[in-house]
Amino acid sequence: MAIKPMIRSNICLNANPDGCAANVREQIEYIKKNFKKADNAPKIALVAGCSNGYGLASRICAGFGYGAATVGLSFDNEPSEKRMGTPGYYNNKTFDEEAAKNGIISITLNGDAYSDTAKSKTIEAVREAAVKSSIPAKIDLFIYSLASPVRTDPKTGVMHKSVIKPVGASFKGRALNIMDGTFSVTEIEPASEDEVFNTVKVMGGEDWQLWMNALDNEGLLSAKTRAVAYTYIGPESSWDIYKNGTIGKAKEDLERACCEINIKYNKKIYGAWVSVNKALVTRSSAVIPTISLYITCLYKVMKEMNLHEGCIEQIARLYSERLYTQDGAVPADSENRIRIDDLEMRGDVQKAVEIKMKNVTSENIFTETDIAGVKRDFLQAHGFNPEDAV
Ligand code: NAD
Repeated sequence: MAIKPMIRSNICLNANPDGCAANVREQIEYIKKNFKKADNAPKIALVAGCSNGYGLASRICAGFGYGAATVGLSFDNEPSEKRMGTPGYYNNKTFDEEAAKNGIISITLNGDAYSDTAKSKTIEAVREAAVKSSIPAKIDLFIYSLASPVRTDPKTGVMHKSVIKPVGASFKGRALNIMDGTFSVTEIEPASEDEVFNTVKVMGGEDWQLWMNALDNEGLLSAKTRAVAYTYIGPESSWDIYKNGTIGKAKEDLERACCEINIKYNKKIYGAWVSVNKALVTRSSAVIPTISLYITCLYKVMKEMNLHEGCIEQIARLYSERLYTQDGAVPADSENRIRIDDLEMRGDVQKAVEIKMKNVTSENIFTETDIAGVKRDFLQAHGFNPEDAV
């Protein structure tokens, strides 16, 4: 029997294994055909948050673009008698199968990246990948791409929960149901100090620093190590809920961590960067209020201007035009951030999106925006097609 997506409030509760596999294969094919090789390419890449969205694309580009051995870590539900696995489980399985077929070394771990246990197991896996590749156990590329609602601090055992709330003032905005194009009004009270603190604990830079320390303690860093974590900034119209909200505070902390990593490992690693990526529909971003509406307008404008990119195109550009350039220079902004949101943030793109955002209603949403493309991407992230949802 065909599996139907189960969707509640822009959250999809199930997955279609075959569709997930097809989605991973499609990204692999894209990279095999379109990727520019580099002399200074990574030989071993570690990706935390490897099973979906930007992390999955990062792993595919490293493995199938550069032929790097990849160690991937994610936190996914395996299928059981009672329930299906999460999409990431099927994505990882396909990645490993395709890697094996193509003679690419891959080791995948399922565990809580915030825990000491997962860090130790990952370190062992990096050593194993190095032995299999007959190269020294050094991580050339470390991508930190976690998007998580909770984190248990390994030192205190306290579980922190992140929230998506404004800071300082309440927020009122239109929320779009991407499945049927209807709007509702969302009102969110400002976060308490505790909620800001907890969100920073989960999505801030502390754990990235713990990872760097753990990798250093085990001698896995080298002068080639590039460490990158992902962030989003977006247009001012989204700042009340994103950049100036709880999640933005966490991302500010990620930038603090990046700066400290660069100071601490100044002589030891090639460098650490926060990369500002484009807004895209992933399992995590679909739940951020009003961002879905922005993304439907953004997709329409960028597709019309022939500028649209998905996760895989974004990361291909991150690697080939930012991280692994011919002369080794890593172009960054005045805050040392890599910008692959440059096309999204172009003046003409933003102007057109702003006009659309003001004029869009449930009557014209299907013609004025690319809600169909957003819905397709959202369903595809769970292995479904739009026809499955009818
Ligand atoms: P996603 O939901 O598609 O993927 C998140 C990944 O994190 C999954 O592989 C999941 O298994 C893993 N994960 C979550 N908790 C974990 C844990 N405790 N241990 C191990 N793995 C865990 O998310 P995404 O949208 O690709 O986001 C990845 C990063 O990119 C985030 O930092 C996000 O803020 C950033 N980013 C996203 C966008 C966007 O529009 N989607 C834009 C710019 C930056």
